[in-house]
Amino acid sequence: MTLIDGKATAARVLEECRTSLTSLAASGVLPGLAVVLVGDDPASRAYVGSKDRTCRDLGMHSLKIELPASTTQEELLQVVRGLNADPAIHGILVQSPPPKHIDEAAIVRAIDPAKDVDGFHPENVARLALEDPSGFVPCTPLGCQRLLMEYKIPTEGTKVVVLGRSMIVGKPLALLLMAKGPGSNATVTVAHSRSRDLPAICREADILIPAIGKPKFVTADFVKEGAVVIDVGINRIADPSTKSGYRLVGDADFDAIASKCRAITPVPGGVGPMTIAMLISNTIKAARQIHGVAG
Ligand code: NAP
Repeated sequence: MTLIDGKATAARVLEECRTSLTSLAASGVLPGLAVVLVGDDPASRAYVGSKDRTCRDLGMHSLKIELPASTTQEELLQVVRGLNADPAIHGILVQSPPPKHIDEAAIVRAIDPAKDVDGFHPENVARLALEDPSGFVPCTPLGCQRLLMEYKIPTEGTKVVVLGRSMIVGKPLALLLMAKGPGSNATVTVAHSRSRDLPAICREADILIPAIGKPKFVTADFVKEGAVVIDVGINRIADPSTKSGYRLVGDADFDAIASKCRAITPVPGGVGPMTIAMLISNTIKAARQIHGVAG
């Protein structure tokens, strides 16, 4: 069994980013990422902090905008419009989920698609479906694909089962892996909460990718002998033995399935670190496209 090391792979992606930043600097371009946090959800605050730190470590321009939970829709729209117009900013991300009174879809639609490094704007969703390489693919699906490619796990002609159909992970991941090209060309099945007999569907998979947000949901009877499991889930479960009182687990029951797998990602340390690395990579791509500098 191969343990797929997301931390080490993300570090390699960030090294590539560092090289790109040096070549962009020679063209006078400094990529900038703006991350907007509304409210004080602790998990969101931690994600925003680590995106900001990663940008700064690489010497990129990073703008962290923290707004109170009482921020109105119009106030948030004004912030987004300001960032759309800011020439120092190439990537804009509004951390999800915003407070309940905010219409998140309207905020995403307000982001300039050329700066939508999360890949959630309808124009970028369409570009992914159309296989237009100028679009932005959501970072977590991109990270899953990159892990498969880095570990030389072929996708062409294989059966992939994606468990979950969200716009953030499941759907874009399915589009990405069924597209034509390297790291794709798979036969993809998307299963969800209304699918019948999930274990049987999942047992068909050469590559199984759970993304449902249910701790240890995928047990041994979901996994074919020799399958690859890329676990997207990040779930907090109570653990009184830790200082924080909780620990992170995936959507797959790692200990129960690892011995059946040809390769598997751990949680934490699997897909998670890849998401931030791909965000940085998307921001550099946005800067290149905005300034017309070839990569
Ligand atoms: P989401 O928007 O809540 O979507 C969950 C999907 O899973 C839905 O399509 C839902 O089906 C399906 N589902 C839920 N319970 C199910 C069940 N019992 N059986 C089958 N399908 C079920 O979640 P998300 O944003 O995609 O995130 C999924 C997980 O990935 C979470 O643990 C999240 O923390 C994690 N995540 C990790 C990263 C990372 O960087 N590693 C990034 C994003 C998300 P229906 O559509 O039928 O309701």
